[in-house]
Amino acid sequence: MSDERSPDTRAVTAGRSHQGTSLTPPLWATSTWQGTGLDDIRKRATGLRADAFYSRYSNPTVRAFEEAVADLEGTEDALAFASGMGAIASTVFALCSAGDHIVAQRQMYAGTSAFLEGPCRRLGIDVTWVDGTRPGAFAEAVRPGKTMLVIAESPSNPRLDLVDLADLGSVAGPFTMIDSTLATPLGQQPAKFGVDLVVHSATKGICGHNDATLGVVAGERDLIGSIWAYAVLHGASASPFDALNGLRGIRTLAVRQRAQSASALVIATALRGHPGVAAVHHPGLADHPQHDLAIAQLSMMPTLLAVDLAGGVDAARMMLDGLRIARPATSLGGPETLVCHSATSTHVSLGPDDQAAIGITDGLLRVSVGLEDTDELIADLSQAIPT
Ligand SMILES: *Cc1c(COP(=O)(O)O)cnc(C)c1O
Repeated sequence: MSDERSPDTRAVTAGRSHQGTSLTPPLWATSTWQGTGLDDIRKRATGLRADAFYSRYSNPTVRAFEEAVADLEGTEDALAFASGMGAIASTVFALCSAGDHIVAQRQMYAGTSAFLEGPCRRLGIDVTWVDGTRPGAFAEAVRPGKTMLVIAESPSNPRLDLVDLADLGSVAGPFTMIDSTLATPLGQQPAKFGVDLVVHSATKGICGHNDATLGVVAGERDLIGSIWAYAVLHGASASPFDALNGLRGIRTLAVRQRAQSASALVIATALRGHPGVAAVHHPGLADHPQHDLAIAQLSMMPTLLAVDLAGGVDAARMMLDGLRIARPATSLGGPETLVCHSATSTHVSLGPDDQAAIGITDGLLRVSVGLEDTDELIADLSQAIPT
């Protein structure tokens, strides 16, 4: 079946069962559908993920996007949300109750850690933080009968640290969940390693054009069904407009990601030689401590790199002011190269100690490599970095 086809082909063929003979998916810009009487509407109101009832429950355009993601991840099903955080928050609240325990990786998107430290703790869900790069760390922190969920992120935001997917997939007892945003469904398929749930901020590489806010979680049908039963009440439902952009993004994801990934590695290599640069982090570099793991589990290297400037925050400020092609902005995975200073933007909610614990220094800049010419990007970044 479709599984035997290459990911490049499936990115083009997946999620087409809702569009008839139209080459592109129709946009179902409707909140509700009319039924044919009481019994018909009752059936829709009580059915699991009822199609054509009310868009918070399901929407055919959103469904097409979900099916495409499930196809690429190699999972039975997927469920889309209004954002990546919508996917993460709804999944955690669908599975965890007061008194439960979560094991989470320290190196992660700060929105997720703020969610776990804030609302989760407030509602009586306990969290233990572990170093996700150390094999065995997740399993060791599991409290049998208490731990409901293990949450990882790989490659992690912003330093591209990796979690060994086989190690994560082998954790027994709790559900395992990974934020795979920085890999996209084409860079790795964690379900193949036994990871139960794969979440993405589709806002990033999947949509790929900085014009949509969208999230998704993929996994086995029954598990996704239970998350859906909670998600219709949580209400972070995906917009059909954004799902349409998600599908459009998936069609070109393979070529975009391959180009951006190749460019990121060339730029990482070039910037290492710059006198103003103290370190460059990218797992595609041969001397990166997790390079072998990267080759074993990633089918495409990340499209980002992290650059640590020798001159700290002052150098970072000067670099952001001096860019001519790349732009100072948060987010990632789009056609424009974006540079952001993690300590004062994406990870500003962490205190200095928590930042230091995950390697976020004063001079750390995350570069999301876009589709501009690689040599011109190297020249632009190099001239902006103060020496
Ligand atoms: C952006 C991002 C999120 C949050 O996604 P939104 O779509 O902004 O809600 C979560 N995880 C990672 C790794 C991200 O980069």
